[in-house]
Amino acid sequence: MTSWDRIERLLGKDALEYLAGMTVGIAGLGSGGGFVAESLAMSGVGGFVLIDDDVLEAANVVRHVGDLRDVGRPKVEVAATLIRARNPAARVTAVQGRVEDHLDRLSGVNLVVVGVDGERAKYAINRTCLALGVTAVYAGVYERGEGGDVVVISPADPQGPCYACWADSLREGIVDPGGEDLDYGMIGPDGTLEAEPGLWLHVVRVAAVQADLALNELLRGTDQYHAMPGNTVILANRPLEIFTGHITPPYGAEWLQIARDPGCMECGQRDRLQDQEIEPDEQISLDQLMSDSGITYTEQ
Ligand SMILES: [Zn+2]
Repeated sequence: MTSWDRIERLLGKDALEYLAGMTVGIAGLGSGGGFVAESLAMSGVGGFVLIDDDVLEAANVVRHVGDLRDVGRPKVEVAATLIRARNPAARVTAVQGRVEDHLDRLSGVNLVVVGVDGERAKYAINRTCLALGVTAVYAGVYERGEGGDVVVISPADPQGPCYACWADSLREGIVDPGGEDLDYGMIGPDGTLEAEPGLWLHVVRVAAVQADLALNELLRGTDQYHAMPGNTVILANRPLEIFTGHITPPYGAEWLQIARDPGCMECGQRDRLQDQEIEPDEQISLDQLMSDSGITYTEQ
C-alpha cells in the first residue's frame, strides 16, 4: 500500500484525489517517456495508457529507467512494472506497437505526453490530439544533450499553436521574442528525446520539466495550477546560444510564447471548417441583412 502522505502535504487531499482519477497517455517509453511515466506515478497520477513498439536492449540500459534485469522486455511492460511498483492501485494499459497504429488508444485520456522518435509520429499524434481536443506535452533533446525544449500544445487555446505550426515557427526562426532572433539550428528535423546521444542526466533534466508541465496541465482548473511564462521552454544544459548573440548559461532556461499560424494546414483547416459551420452567411453585410429582413435602422 502506497503512502501518499508526502504528496498530500504538498498538493492537498483534493488535488491528490483529482490526480488519482486522471489518465495520461504516454507515446514513447524511451529515455524521456519512461522517466515521465515513473515520475507521474510518483506524483499521484492514477491512470496510464503506454504505447511503444520497442524492446529494451542492453545498449539502452545507460539511458533508461529499466536496467539489465529488463533487457528483452517490451519498454511498455518495463514502464508498467515500475509504475505498479510505486503504486499497485494504478490503472495501466500497456500497448506494444507503433503509436501511429494505436492512436485510437489515446481516446479518453486527459493528457498526452509525447516522447516518441521522429516527426511523422509527432504529426500523427498532433492530428489525433486536435481531433480529441486533448492537450499534449512534447519534448526534444538537442545533440549531445546540450539542451532541449518542452512545449505544451492546448487545442482549447484559440491563440495557441498545434505541434505542426509550432515546429514550423521555431525552425523557420519566425518567432520574435523581444526582438531577438532565435537560433534554432541546433535541433534537426528528427531531433528528439531518443534519437540524440546524451547522458541520461541531461535527458532527464528535460524530461523532468516535461513531467512537471504535464502535471501542471492535469491540475488546470484547480488551485494547484500555476500559469507559466509561455507555452515553450528551451533549456540549456551547456552554455547555449538560444538567441543570436546571447549565451544562455548552463542550467538556464528561456521561455517563449509561440502563436498559432492561421494558415497552418493542420489547425488552420480546423478553424476554417468551424467558421463555415458557425457563420455560413459571413459574406452578407449587416446592411444587407437588415434590408433583406425589412428592418430599418433609425438613429436615436
Ligand atoms: Zn497548427
